[in-house]
Amino acid sequence: MIQLKNFINGEFLNPIQNQWLDNYNPSNGSIYGQLPNSCLKDVNFAYEAAKKAFESWSNTPIEKRSAILLKIASLIDDNLDRFAEAESKDNGKPISVAKRLDVPRAASNFRFFGHAITQFQSESHETKSEKTINYTLRHPLGVVGCISPWNLPLYLLTWKIAPALAAGNCVIAKPSEITPYTAFLLGEICNKAGLPKGVLNIIHGKGANAGQAIIEHVHIKAISFTGGTETGKIIARTAAPMFKKLSLELGGKNPNIIFADCDYEKMLISTVKSSFSNQGQICLCGSRIFVEASIFDQFKTDFIKCVSKLIVGPPSNKSTQIGALVSKAHYEKVLSFIDRVGSDGSKLLYGGKRVHVKDHEGGYYLTPTIVQVESNSCQLNQEEIFGPVVTIMPFESESQVLEMANDVKYGLSATVWTNNLKRSLFFSEHLECGIVWVNTWMQRDLRTPFGGVKSSGLGREGGFEVLRFFSETKNICINYK
Ligand code: NAD
Repeated sequence: MIQLKNFINGEFLNPIQNQWLDNYNPSNGSIYGQLPNSCLKDVNFAYEAAKKAFESWSNTPIEKRSAILLKIASLIDDNLDRFAEAESKDNGKPISVAKRLDVPRAASNFRFFGHAITQFQSESHETKSEKTINYTLRHPLGVVGCISPWNLPLYLLTWKIAPALAAGNCVIAKPSEITPYTAFLLGEICNKAGLPKGVLNIIHGKGANAGQAIIEHVHIKAISFTGGTETGKIIARTAAPMFKKLSLELGGKNPNIIFADCDYEKMLISTVKSSFSNQGQICLCGSRIFVEASIFDQFKTDFIKCVSKLIVGPPSNKSTQIGALVSKAHYEKVLSFIDRVGSDGSKLLYGGKRVHVKDHEGGYYLTPTIVQVESNSCQLNQEEIFGPVVTIMPFESESQVLEMANDVKYGLSATVWTNNLKRSLFFSEHLECGIVWVNTWMQRDLRTPFGGVKSSGLGREGGFEVLRFFSETKNICINYK
């Protein structure tokens, strides 16, 4: 049994009330360890450590902060296998995916913000006629909270921690209780890299206890949260009366719009990925596929053929492309959506079945699933499933597909496949979301703003946007007449 601990003030500690949660391996449903079920007392203890560390860390020269972040990045690289195995064990994703995507990206997050902070600028404005100079100071906020989900555990946790630390803040982080293992390993790496005690504190436990205690803490100045829209509402309600800065990255139900004039082969390969990567458990997956009517039948045949070749299997197998879903509860939620197929005119085209994997009988495996829907207003098109389930539906005109794409409460990302430049510009402007990909999917440049609109969130991560989020701005006006 692997027993994870909280990481507070550079030490690995049991939860103060000695309460523990079981940690499951979704590839076979077994319990393989325990993690702290932390409470308010642990959060308060971490806060005291973070507060103490703040003065020194916020005054540490940027070059030194940068060097420590770069060191953390290279230590993550050095421990690629260990991190990838832990991520896969917790999450059910193929080890190959963790090695190719999750862990390298966690290292990139530290590397990117280690460099970005050395280029972070503030502005100054001179008004000659009035003989004034305004200049802006950007100071770290203090102690901030970073709360992350289970789908890309280390990737998304470090996407918050790295800029918060780079900007000079001290952090109390809470990874998902469903996937805590890599966050635990990160503590060790931070000590090795020379991150001073108390600068980063990692608390494990349930959202309603440890998470809520972070949100409610009056002296934690900002909350950077990624997770479900319903949780986002609770966080906004709790934090707003304290006027905390909030960054909320929430759910998505992203359209993938395919026009007949696209580069068909490229689109097909990419659409298989945007539908089923990470078992469809990426907030950016294109779960609503709209296909121009003239190529709909062709697309349907080719898409089913490609998807039927995907290999569902244990995460440890090199050939596995679709691993296990993250937990029993999530597996059942996804299956309950599949059970509804047929009730509203929708038709199961492929998949929708539990997969029994030899020697992994208790695992949460599902065939990638394609459903044809009649209307965009059906539940399958309106609610976030967050699993390996996509819907497809034909469209006749640009105006019809634009209306359907926008007719959903979410607005995270969208993909458009076309070789018509005017059309791609038109759609990029009018799609209601924070990120549009044209003729590609999930190509990320860490300098760009990342986030959603409507029920997909508030604020932007990435690049200088997030460094501004993690800083307080003060303007000074000097009259030199
Ligand atoms: P979740 O909202 O259940 O949990 C996310 C985190 O919040 C966990 O660490 C959880 O413990 C914590 N939490 C739960 N209740 C809390 C509370 N009351 N106070 C404080 N913290 C609390 O989400 P999940 O099931 O882990 O993740 C899946 C969701 O995340 C999906 O909706 C997905 O779309 C979304 N997501 C969004 C993005 C994005 O960038 N927009 C990226 C990945 C995932």
